[in-house]
Amino acid sequence: MTDVFELLGDDLGPLKVIHVREPSIGLKGILVIDNVARGPAIGGLRIAPDVSLMECFRLARAMTLKNAAAGLPHGGGKSVIYGDPRMPPPHKAKLIRCFAAALRDVQDYIFGPDMGTDEECMAWVRDEIGRSVGLPRDFGGIPLDEVGATGWGVFHATQVALPHVDLSLQGAKVVIQGFGAVGKHSARHLCDAGAILVGAADSRGSIYDDAGLDVSALIELKKRGRSVVDHNVGEKLNREAVVDMECDIWIPAARPDVINEANVSRLKTRLVVEGANIPITTAAERILHERGVLCVPDFIANAGGVICAAMEYQNANQAAAFDTIEEKIRTNTQEVLESVDQEGLFPRDAAIRLAERRVKTAMSYRQWSSFSAAPGYV
Ligand code: NAD
Repeated sequence: MTDVFELLGDDLGPLKVIHVREPSIGLKGILVIDNVARGPAIGGLRIAPDVSLMECFRLARAMTLKNAAAGLPHGGGKSVIYGDPRMPPPHKAKLIRCFAAALRDVQDYIFGPDMGTDEECMAWVRDEIGRSVGLPRDFGGIPLDEVGATGWGVFHATQVALPHVDLSLQGAKVVIQGFGAVGKHSARHLCDAGAILVGAADSRGSIYDDAGLDVSALIELKKRGRSVVDHNVGEKLNREAVVDMECDIWIPAARPDVINEANVSRLKTRLVVEGANIPITTAAERILHERGVLCVPDFIANAGGVICAAMEYQNANQAAAFDTIEEKIRTNTQEVLESVDQEGLFPRDAAIRLAERRVKTAMSYRQWSSFSAAPGYV
């Protein structure tokens, strides 16, 4: 525990760490609120068997930076529940409701969806404590996973980045690791605009076809609870094989640290656009940078979901949210990549500099720099 605090406690945060346990139903969860100088933290609730305090910390910081980089009036936080996300829905509802109820008074955290949670889960949270985003349409929300808000942003980040590696989208070969909410919508937008999906993976395996995979057929399979490897065309491989697939654009949209120092040499691509949060270790990103592979950092490229959530929180409609995602992601990607080109900066350093500048400016306006205890603040 001490190590985590020593490693991650710095002048931005974390502000609060709350461990929630309810043995009677097997609930074990963690909330980390990193920094709320810009406003109440928005961050996803993740359910996975292998989540950890460290992962939660890193994701909370990523949200501080992402919300600031996106210019949103929100700070960063994250919450996790240990468990299999495919558990029976009544049990899942019980765990989520109990977790939310335990955090009812933590007004500076607004729940959003993440891996293992969806619009329905956010509806349970809203019903329980009245504070969540990413709600189902019937409950007044913009269902950001269903409409593909993050994939829309990944698509725009990719479009802006391509000229920086002398590529165009037309005919560009794309590989996507993780064919869930982020991955499948990124694939859809990129292929609608002329790219070719040559490889895709989910937790059960990967599939490859140099001639191009049928994105709609893969989406349909996933909708029916099947895997991309159930597709009847293409070469079926194990899920790690997605790392070796040669392409122009490689999009991680699954788990953290999937590319690290041990496997980064296997990646054969020109551009990586990080749909997942922290999918590549910083050391591996540096190796890619030295090899001339451009990586658009996670909190710049995948901010579409949180921009949509913040727009929902302000009662905006879906069309306005999508316009805002397009405008913000294009501007921020361009700003980061200009610093990379003109100052020779490592892309993550350029992105962190942009975001930290915005967080610190907000902190300078507050009496208590990383939070506000003012009544009626949320
Ligand atoms: P999801 O649960 O909808 O999809 C995840 C996909 O990844 C599934 O298809 C799953 O089978 C696959 N997967 C899991 N482990 C894998 C592995 N080892 N190899 C290959 N595939 C694997 O989740 P999502 O909402 O699409 O989120 C994916 C990532 O994007 C996460 O890192 C999440 O934090 C990040 N993210 C999501 C959003 C959002 O709006 N949903 C926004 C920003 C960032």
